[in-house]
Amino acid sequence: MAKQLQCDVLVIGAGPAGSRAAMRVASEGLDVILVDCKTRIGERPHCGEFVPYQLFSEFALNRNSIIHRIDNLETRIVHDKSKLEFKTNSVQSNGFLIDRPKFDRNLAVEAATSGALVMSSSRFTGFTDHACVLKSIGDEIAVNAKYIIAADGAHSSVRKKLSLFTEDCTVGYQIEAPIVEPSGSSAIVFLDRDFFGGYGWLFPKRATANVGVGFLPSNGFSPAAALGDFRAMLIRLGLIKPGWIARTSGFIPGLGIRFPVIVDNILFCGDAAGLAHPITGAGIAQAVFSGDIAGKFVAKALKSKDSSTINRYQDVLLERYGGAYGHALSKKKLQLELWKTGDFVELCDQTWISFKGYKKRERNF
Ligand SMILES: Cc1cc2nc3c(=O)[nH]c(=O)nc-3n(C[C@H](O)[C@H](O)[C@H](O)COP(=O)(O)OP(=O)(O)OC[C@H]3O[C@@H](n4cnc5c(N)ncnc54)[C@H](O)[C@@H]3O)c2cc1C
Repeated sequence: MAKQLQCDVLVIGAGPAGSRAAMRVASEGLDVILVDCKTRIGERPHCGEFVPYQLFSEFALNRNSIIHRIDNLETRIVHDKSKLEFKTNSVQSNGFLIDRPKFDRNLAVEAATSGALVMSSSRFTGFTDHACVLKSIGDEIAVNAKYIIAADGAHSSVRKKLSLFTEDCTVGYQIEAPIVEPSGSSAIVFLDRDFFGGYGWLFPKRATANVGVGFLPSNGFSPAAALGDFRAMLIRLGLIKPGWIARTSGFIPGLGIRFPVIVDNILFCGDAAGLAHPITGAGIAQAVFSGDIAGKFVAKALKSKDSSTINRYQDVLLERYGGAYGHALSKKKLQLELWKTGDFVELCDQTWISFKGYKKRERNF
């Protein structure tokens, strides 16, 4: 027989979205349980660890996870890999490279110190009529919660249990490689026709760099092989040294907000709500924002005993991301249509976020 727990809010997933949501609700004095299937929250991260620098000030986050500033974003359109020929542009960038495990742990610790009961090694496995079922270190636990915040990532099992789609994902493969010139503050993005609907990246840390590729799976093209070729090219370019210190992979929702973001008493946030940017795949800032407001509206609904308050959650998400993501999606559709056959340089000019053509509206997409 399953153990029984009761709470005001069950938050599933202790990534940036879930931990921020749990902190928000718990700091209102409400009863919150935050669960994650990982044995140690924050590890292993599947992440390039690049965030916009206003993230820390907007949410008054602990800055001890910042490694260094990224002042410049260079984009190289791969023209001829064998001859190492590129078309390059460079723009100013206002970002930080962060230590993602530390960043996630900070948020989980904030949730715990605000009063949330945090349980690692605890996996959501499904629903009964009145409860969520968890597998937690050998125990089966049925949690009866008034609200559920589902922040369980791109391949959300809460979504799957509700038969909602999760098949919009890009795959990302990454290594941490020793860098040739340590402590650079320039991030480099490589747009390559081989990375369908995605790109390669080199984000410098101190003595290492996060080197990865992300794209939509197509025609059996192996992400591991693509990462191997990309790594070899960066070695030939004299940017990284052979060998790698860590390796990771993961999924990124690639087609914008996954509607509905509210189902009955369940609010989806972060990647589970499809909030990663459709062109860049960046999703950490959006996860913190959506967790923050999901927590805020759930706390309001509980305190006012007015369940309709949670409907504001979707409105606020749309106010913040609706316009930008609508535009990004039209660019993404153009990319997917023309990626394999169109003029690639022209396509990148029109659809990559740091080129001038990105601002132009698409009529037909
Ligand atoms: C290779 C790669 C590189 C990336 N690089 C960047 C980048 O540089 N910058 C950026 O902004 N974004 C990046 N992203 C995207 C970013 O990592 C996500 O957008 C962000 O992590 C979303 O946060 P989240 O809290 O919604 O989900 P997650 O961080 O994925 O957290 C979800 C949590 O839910 C837990 N969980 C899952 N299922 C269950 C379950 N059944 N029960 C309990 N717990 C569960 C997981 O263990 C996890 O801790 C990258 C993604 C990938 C894959």
